[in-house]
Amino acid sequence: MNDKTNKQPQKLPLSEIRTEISQLDSDLLKLFARRRELSLSVALNKEATLKPIRDQEREKELLELLVDKGAKSGLDAHYVTKLFHAIIEDSLAVQRDYLQSQSNPDSPTQVIKTIAVLGGKGAYSYLAACKHFNASQNTYLGCSTFDKVLKSVEQGKADFGVIPIENTTSGGITEVYDLLLDSKLTIVGEEKYPIKHCLVTNPNTEISNIRKIHAHPEASRQCNKNLPKLVAAEVSLVSSTAEALQLAKKDTSGMVAAIASQQSAEQFGLTVLLKDVANLRENTTRFLVVAREAKKVSRQVTCKTSIAISTGQKPGSLAEVLLVFRDANIPLSKLESRPIAGKPWEQMFYVDLEGNIEAPNVEKALEDISRLCRFMKVLGSYATEDVNATKVSTEALSRTKATSLNQQSLNSKNTPKLADLKTPSTRKSYHLASRDHKMEDSVIEVKGVKIGGNNFTVIAGPCAVESKQQIEQCAKLANETGVSVLRGGCFKPRTSPYSFQGLGFEGLNLLNNAGDHYHLPIITEVMNTEDVREIAEQADMLQIGARNMQNFSLLKSVGQINRPVMLKRGLMASIEELLNAAEYILAQGNMQVFLCERGIRTFETATRNTLDLSAVPLLKQMTHLPIIVDPSHAVGKRELVEPLAKAAKAVGAHGVMIEFHPDPESALSDGPQALKPDQFAHLMHELHS
Ligand code: PEP
Ligand code: MN
Repeated sequence: MNDKTNKQPQKLPLSEIRTEISQLDSDLLKLFARRRELSLSVALNKEATLKPIRDQEREKELLELLVDKGAKSGLDAHYVTKLFHAIIEDSLAVQRDYLQSQSNPDSPTQVIKTIAVLGGKGAYSYLAACKHFNASQNTYLGCSTFDKVLKSVEQGKADFGVIPIENTTSGGITEVYDLLLDSKLTIVGEEKYPIKHCLVTNPNTEISNIRKIHAHPEASRQCNKNLPKLVAAEVSLVSSTAEALQLAKKDTSGMVAAIASQQSAEQFGLTVLLKDVANLRENTTRFLVVAREAKKVSRQVTCKTSIAISTGQKPGSLAEVLLVFRDANIPLSKLESRPIAGKPWEQMFYVDLEGNIEAPNVEKALEDISRLCRFMKVLGSYATEDVNATKVSTEALSRTKATSLNQQSLNSKNTPKLADLKTPSTRKSYHLASRDHKMEDSVIEVKGVKIGGNNFTVIAGPCAVESKQQIEQCAKLANETGVSVLRGGCFKPRTSPYSFQGLGFEGLNLLNNAGDHYHLPIITEVMNTEDVREIAEQADMLQIGARNMQNFSLLKSVGQINRPVMLKRGLMASIEELLNAAEYILAQGNMQVFLCERGIRTFETATRNTLDLSAVPLLKQMTHLPIIVDPSHAVGKRELVEPLAKAAKAVGAHGVMIEFHPDPESALSDGPQALKPDQFAHLMHELHS
């Protein structure tokens, strides 16, 4: 580079100056390209040595040396650091992309991708997606709601979705948090995009004529203090910035504007009337990139993991979780709470932690946390976009004397830790259900009722909800006799398709009202995946029936919701199969599972099934999950229910589930095993004495 400080600018013909500048620029491009090649070689080298790609000590020394060198050539420190921050950022991106492609050999890198965004071209999500994917040949699928963005990825119409999650001015975007919790997608990346809101209009619009400004609600919120000072117009909220732009474009009155970025204004042929109309100049939105499949993050790349947890209402339960992170030395970059739908005053916490889900310390911390939580969902583990520019010390900025790079110190830093490599797993196939994972008994709590530990809980009610009157009579008796949870089937798994199939959602409504009226939490069976969420909104607990114990998609579905699940042992299922079925639910994040022994098929036909009471003490050794006994379905004969219920208590069951009916003779299902009201009252008395 020319030394400009000591020389007077030469007076040369303009054409000559331009030729030299063009030449210098093309030389610079070649140098940048070569520097990129070298960065890639660094990545190859680091791949072999397992060094992390980010080495901020090295960057700091490099920048300080450059600042000193620059000073000698008359370049000020801020100019030099600005240039090199951009160059270093590019170099890190090149290295990260290379290592990521090596960690995910099966995922194609260069094919054209379809990316779903809110609003489509012109929207901030679109701009953030373009920046993130850095490829112009991608196609973009514009969607009218965040829900549709996620659905189009779930349904395979798009490969990725890009959705905003938080903004530095207006905070977390609550709707997106709720959608992510329910979605099957996983977070595979993030992008921080600086938002520069402008007031944009058709050319030749006068600011004083503007009467209406179209804006996305978030954009409007971010400008609500500043904009009224600049223009006297009403704000009309629209579903996306792209729509705001379309409406401004269509205007012929000269009175309409939109809030959008400069780039998108240009794409729509609109002009920028006012720049920087947001309340705060520093206004950045963090976008999440979601996909159907998780992407492995190379252990050398800075990584973030996002989880959602529900800790229960015990005082200090959140603090216990946070202590796990502290003890594992895992920094948290975010903790956000959201109310849980249908559970007043209960919160779901969203946590972003700095670490890779495959790193042993993170893996262990998450396992520890899963023991403390009722529900835990990993939303994704992904390479973070936080390429915080390395700061040069103020001392270096003010100093002009060159320091030499200490080569030795550079070489000795960041030696890889081979302890990071995983040891082969010796875990049980039902690890989360086992006592290896959790020594102490799990206790499930719902509306003040406890199942597990030292509690003996009675769940009782009719086999099926048949009518308003019937279920109300049952609830009344349950309440009077000290039952803890009211049961009632609404969706009935019947052997014959011609038998009574249950009243469905109508029955659930009746059960719900009866439970409310007599202050009893309710449990009901769910038979298919599509109904899980709707039933969970009304029932306090869900039951998976014996016939569905190995319906794995159903197990996964109930694993994704934050409701206790009673899992009944299958007609022909071994104890190990029962525990593996429970594991399906736990592995999805729902830790509120309890088991139910309800009799198995044997050669004996004198009773409906054979009650396997030995399963109770055995399961209590093998698992921390509560285990209750259902003598009604086990024997199928009302006379035998009481002795077996007592026996269940004697062998240590955490409770029983009993069927009774106001008039068993007229019952639409399982009449022969239903206790009559006085028999049931007698049983309750016996169990409590
Ligand atoms: C029930 O409890 O209503 C039921 C149908 O039981 P199982 O799934 O054990 O047969
Ligand atoms: Mn029944």
